[in-house]
Amino acid sequence: MSAILTLNAGSSSLKFAVYEAADEPVLRMTGQVENLGPAARMVLKLPEQNERELGAADHAVALRAILAAAEPVLGGHLVRGVGHRIVHGGTAFAEPIVLNDDALAQLNALVPLAPLHQPHNLAAVAAAGDAFPDAVQVGCFDTAFHHGHPFVNDTFAIPRRFYQEGVRRYGFHGLSYDYLTGRLRADWPHLAAGRVVIAHLGNGASMCAIRNGRSVASTMGFTALDGLPMGTRSGQLDPGVLLYLLDRGMTPPELANMLYRDSGLKGLSGISHDMRTLLASDAEEARQAIDYYVFRIRRELGGLSAVLGGLDGLVFSGGIGENSDEIRARVLEGMEFLGLGVNGPANAANETRIGAGRTPVLVIPTDEERVIARATARLLAG
Ligand code: ADP
Repeated sequence: MSAILTLNAGSSSLKFAVYEAADEPVLRMTGQVENLGPAARMVLKLPEQNERELGAADHAVALRAILAAAEPVLGGHLVRGVGHRIVHGGTAFAEPIVLNDDALAQLNALVPLAPLHQPHNLAAVAAAGDAFPDAVQVGCFDTAFHHGHPFVNDTFAIPRRFYQEGVRRYGFHGLSYDYLTGRLRADWPHLAAGRVVIAHLGNGASMCAIRNGRSVASTMGFTALDGLPMGTRSGQLDPGVLLYLLDRGMTPPELANMLYRDSGLKGLSGISHDMRTLLASDAEEARQAIDYYVFRIRRELGGLSAVLGGLDGLVFSGGIGENSDEIRARVLEGMEFLGLGVNGPANAANETRIGAGRTPVLVIPTDEERVIARATARLLAG
C-alpha cells in the first residue's frame, strides 16, 4: 500500500487523516492534535478512539506525534503524497496543485488576507516537507470552489483599482462545498442540477448559493471574517464601526485580534465560543448571542434564495449544522414561503432528510479531508 496523509492545520489544532492511495482513497486513520501550545492533546477517532496528553507542541512536534501514532497503520508503507488544506489560493489557484517553491512564495504573499489560517497551513507544509522529503505535497484551496462566481459577488463597491489589486470577495469553505455538492451529484442528482443553499455551520461558518453545482454567491468575502457570526469571528459589520474604532485609537493588530478572536458568539455572549455551552446556558447573554446567530442565518437564507431565484434544496453541515436540531429548527421556523418545513422527529434524530415542506432539507456531514485525499491521489496518478 502507498499512503496519503492529509493535514488541515488551524491556529490551535492539526487535523489529519491517513488514506490508502487509490482512485477512491480508503480511510485508515483520522484524528487531531488539539490545543497546540504548552499543553497539547492527541485525539484519535479511527481506527480506535483514544486521547492522550502530548505536553508542549507546535505544528512540527504535532506532526511528529501524528507520524508516531500512525506507524502501526502505515506499517512501513510509503507516504507518497501529503495533501494540505490551504485556506487562501488568491486569484491564481482555481484547482489543487503540487506545491513547489514558486507556488509557496505566492501563497506566502496571501498571509495578510487570512492571518488566522494561512500561516499555519504553510507551517504544516514546511513540517511535512521535512518529514517526507520524497513525497508530493499538494495544496487544496478553500477559495477555489468560488472561482468563476459572478462579478457582482466578486467585488465591493469601492474604487475599481482595488479590485485589480486583489481586493475581491474570494469566498471560503470551498473544500466543504466541493464535498457536499459531490454528495448531491451522487445521491440527489435533481438537487445537484438545481438551486441549493448550503449552510456550513462550524466554528467558522458560511453559506453558499449553488446553481448546478457551481458557486453563485457566498457569505464570506475578502477574508474569512465576513457574513455569518462565528465562534470567535464577527461576521458582517458596518465598515463605519472599524473607522470609529481606529479613530478612537485602536491599532490594526488590536482590531484584527478583536474581529478574529474575541467576537462572534464568544464576544456577544461573553461566555463561550462553543454553541453547546451557549445552548446549555441560562444566561440572557447566551440566549441573545444564539438569537443573533439564527437571525443572521435566516437573513442570508432569504438573500441567497433570492439570488438563486428560488430554492430547490437546503443543506446543513458543519459541527452545528450536523448536530444541533435546535438551531436547525429555529432557522426553518416560518420559512414556508421558501417551501421549507421541519419534520420534528427526523430533525431530533439528526436524520439525513429533515424537511417537511416541498423543498428538501438535508443534513450531510462534511468531509474536507476526503476532498484533499482525492485531489492528492489524482495528482499522484497524473
Ligand atoms: P471547526 O470549524 O473547527 O471544524 P466544527 O465543525 O467541529 O468546527 O463545529 C464546532 C461547533 O459545533 C461548536 O460550536 C460546537 O459547540 C458545535 N457542536 C458540536 N456538536 C454540537 C451539538 N450536539 N449541538 C450543538 N452544537 C454542537
